[in-house]
Amino acid sequence: MIRLQKVEKIYRRGAETVRALRGVDLEIHSGEFAAVTGPSGAGKTTLLHIVGCLDTPGRGEVLFDGVSVDGWTDKKLTRLRREKIGFVFQQFYLIPGLSVADNIALPLLFRKQKPDKDRIATLARMVGLENRTRHVPAALSGGEMQRTAIARALVNRPEIILADEPTGNLDSKNSEKIFDILKGLNRSGLTVLMITHNANLAARADRIIRIKDGMVEA
Ligand code: ADP
Ligand code: ADP
Repeated sequence: MIRLQKVEKIYRRGAETVRALRGVDLEIHSGEFAAVTGPSGAGKTTLLHIVGCLDTPGRGEVLFDGVSVDGWTDKKLTRLRREKIGFVFQQFYLIPGLSVADNIALPLLFRKQKPDKDRIATLARMVGLENRTRHVPAALSGGEMQRTAIARALVNRPEIILADEPTGNLDSKNSEKIFDILKGLNRSGLTVLMITHNANLAARADRIIRIKDGMVEA
């Protein structure tokens, strides 16, 4: 589904250079649930951003369904992200002044599309928030905030969810719940790639991708 070939990424800060990814070959298969683990600074977030076309590699290639996105314009990459990818981050990035329902609908509102009420209600139900749709984020628990963010990530019917430490700000009970929701979505066909420091959760993934010093460990 998504393939990385010899991907390298170097960041430059003044005179300093950081080799964040050093020749990553990786294939994400359609329908799998993969956990990305590794020490802080290993390159996990960089990898996720490149898989999600939020960032481009310095060298190497990213292929979606066999097609390289090398040289694509920002406009084309934005469309690819919108059509195929849902993002979930450690910080939930909800809009404080909007209800849960409107936060879920946000990707549609941004594009001046009128959200379908039934669809938003269905998404809220999928993450167990059917009784919270009128609440504002401040009235939610952390776990509920992340469930709102997951529903928002699903609004465009993505093929894959890319989650960067989605349980990083949650206690173990809420972490389990988020993981179970992602597992359930995966069972219904969604591909999931999730960065996590939580070894218990990683162990429950189909596959663990270990990153160290900018490389995938064999
Ligand atoms: P991880 O997610 O495993 O903690 P990251 O991908 O965030 O690792 O970072 C990998 C390396 O790249 C780290 O050394 C980090 O400091 C560096 N890095 C990440 N983003 C930037 C950036 N925008 N500018 C400079 N260096 C960065
Ligand atoms: P971390 O992994 O360091 O805890 P996050 O996972 O919350 O941080 O976010 C990773 C990076 O992605 C941040 O630099 C953030 O600015 C960026 N980011 C968050 N949401 C989006 C988005 N919707 N589109 C593009 N970049 C985003």
